Amino acid sequence: DRILVIGSGAREHAIAVTLLAGRTVNEVFCAPGNPGMALDGIHLADLDTTDSAAVVDYIHQHSIDWVFVGPEQPLIEGLVDHLTEAGIRAFGPTRAAAQIEGSKDFAKALMRRHGIPTAAYATFDRLEPAQQYVREHGAPIVVKADGLAAGKGVTVAMTLDQALDALEQVFVDRRFGQAGARVVIEDYMSGQECSLMCFVRGEQVWPMPLAQDHKPAYDNDKGPNTGGMGAYSPLPQFGDDLADMALETIVKPTVRAMVEEGTPFTGILYTGLMVTDQGPKVVEFNARMGDPETEVVLPLLTSDLALGIRTLMDGGEPTFTWRRDVSEICVVLAADGYPGHPDKGAPVPLVEPREDLQAYYAGVDGSIQGGLTAASGRTAVIRASGPDLRQAQERIYGLLDDLDTSGLFYRHDIGHRGLETL
Ligand code: ATP
Repeated sequence: DRILVIGSGAREHAIAVTLLAGRTVNEVFCAPGNPGMALDGIHLADLDTTDSAAVVDYIHQHSIDWVFVGPEQPLIEGLVDHLTEAGIRAFGPTRAAAQIEGSKDFAKALMRRHGIPTAAYATFDRLEPAQQYVREHGAPIVVKADGLAAGKGVTVAMTLDQALDALEQVFVDRRFGQAGARVVIEDYMSGQECSLMCFVRGEQVWPMPLAQDHKPAYDNDKGPNTGGMGAYSPLPQFGDDLADMALETIVKPTVRAMVEEGTPFTGILYTGLMVTDQGPKVVEFNARMGDPETEVVLPLLTSDLALGIRTLMDGGEPTFTWRRDVSEICVVLAADGYPGHPDKGAPVPLVEPREDLQAYYAGVDGSIQGGLTAASGRTAVIRASGPDLRQAQERIYGLLDDLDTSGLFYRHDIGHRGLETL
């Protein structure tokens, strides 16, 4: 097979590398990809992925057999619908199903109708009733812009003033434009967060191992929130019963509800969980794989990813199997200034891939021969594995401390919640 992956980040790099290992896979193209991917023999497709006609042309010209859509934006804009109409097989949800990520109001209303455990909420499109609701409920409380705001549309307000301030930013300052035309206000949930990603076809679900991301920019969970600074999988602090409970009480009822309501989901459903005293509850759904969770989960896969997805799309019984004898960890190398105003141009180190060690590239310019440089905030995600979390962590930081990372920064405590319980 010849496969086209849509996207350009470290997540897509990891997806492409894993697909390329498939027995029946000849070539993997990534659109638009990034120059670091060439290190692993991935072809870059110079293509405007927002132009679905151009994507269709490229697929015909290069005899692509099927497409894996990585990021949320093209899914929410309906790329899978366009490709399917053109007779091309594409793995990912339709525009209608991708609303589970694209609209928090859609996701919350679906969960409410079907009794899926999540924080109670209300939706507002005007300032005054939103202010009144917040005053009645008090803090802590969570204010979210309804549409996509790249993680920046959420305020976890610990005081009433913070909550009122967040409402002003949305409705008065219009900080989030259209994404903030509406807000979802949620009860605060306390607990530890983790991610459960599943392959989904209609009502059928094949889970991946649990993973945990680290959103704050600096060590000890300090600093502004980011797209994610590192991850690890599996999670020693949680037993299989947590994943089972989340599957039975959350994921399966959700995908069943989507079938019943006429928006069946096929693709990867990411459930962001809060592990509360009353069990797992939904923080958010995503309609695609997590970044950086993908970079630690896919290396645990022992079955053939391309074959599994092809079988799933063809209506057969796919097999997805996972290692349980190793621990995977990854650390994001970010450009100084991220997430506010990342500096461009710092050299990004090249790491020769090995089975237990690999760099997945993201925001980089340049070339493998001439050297890679920082082009945006998250430049590369370095992953390592070990027999347990502690040894995986020692390995990754042993490597990172030896690399020249001037102009870049990374967190030094990825995995700390898992290690605290060991
Ligand atoms: P965006 O839509 O802007 O990309 P997002 O989808 O990342 O944002 P969420 O995942 O809903 O936003 O929220 C971001 C973070 O805020 C969560 O990872 C969690 O730490 C915190 N959070 C969200 N909802 C709650 C809640 N009800 N209680 C406590 N913390 C919450």
